[in-house]
Amino acid sequence: MNVVPSPDEPASRPFGPLASRTLGPELAEANAELESASAEDVLRWVLARFRGQRIGLSSAFGPEGCVLVDLVQRVTGPMGVQIPVYTIDTGYLFAASIDVREAYRARGADIRVVEPLLTIRGQAERHGPDLFARDPDACCEIRKVEPMRRILTLLDVWITAIRRDQSPTREHTPILGTATRDDGSLVLKVAPLARWTRADTWQHLLDNELPYNRLLDEGFTSIGCEPCTRRPEADGNERDGRWAGQGKTECGIHNL
Ligand code: SF4
Repeated sequence: MNVVPSPDEPASRPFGPLASRTLGPELAEANAELESASAEDVLRWVLARFRGQRIGLSSAFGPEGCVLVDLVQRVTGPMGVQIPVYTIDTGYLFAASIDVREAYRARGADIRVVEPLLTIRGQAERHGPDLFARDPDACCEIRKVEPMRRILTLLDVWITAIRRDQSPTREHTPILGTATRDDGSLVLKVAPLARWTRADTWQHLLDNELPYNRLLDEGFTSIGCEPCTRRPEADGNERDGRWAGQGKTECGIHNL
């Protein structure tokens, strides 16, 4: 049922038009064109332009991740194709987060769970207990970033649910960008929801009666691993409850 890619997976094919560290003219032109396109039209463009290449999306099943899985199903369903949904199970997820993931599997999503190479126990044996409290960057590297690196070896096109209004660190997210694999080759990174607001996201979720994490009805606004997620204390950006008080705002997968 789950796919856990190992480091022994064959090397990725080079991604022709993007095999440089800078965005090619074609991509810059497409970005300008897609800036005003709907999320569904961005997805249709990607599916047409990169037909035959390895397209997948990642989702942690936050509100926008749920919307993206739904939109991809709406776009790909009539085409008779299915795009895999990669999701990382750090071992520290809330039970409610696993429940919502499984609700989307029940709705037909091709969900592939990727786990860290170290179990929580193995991590504690190697690095000491509760690494998240002492060195959250190291913990995120082991439990989130390294698994994401493995996912990138399986993809030519990575579709992600991040939005510009989630936090200052995401406000310049392009519709089309790139991520870099360990060998320096590039993966096209697509953010169809970049222009969506939090209100847009909730409207789509509620209008379509989609499953969402029940913790979002209990004051949480962004949900990651249980030890590093709090209800935000005051009005701020929705990711304020993540790594609160630790001076950390991103796990690192969007820096790849
Ligand atoms: Fe570890 Fe916290 Fe990062 Fe999860 S969010 S991987 S528990 S530091």
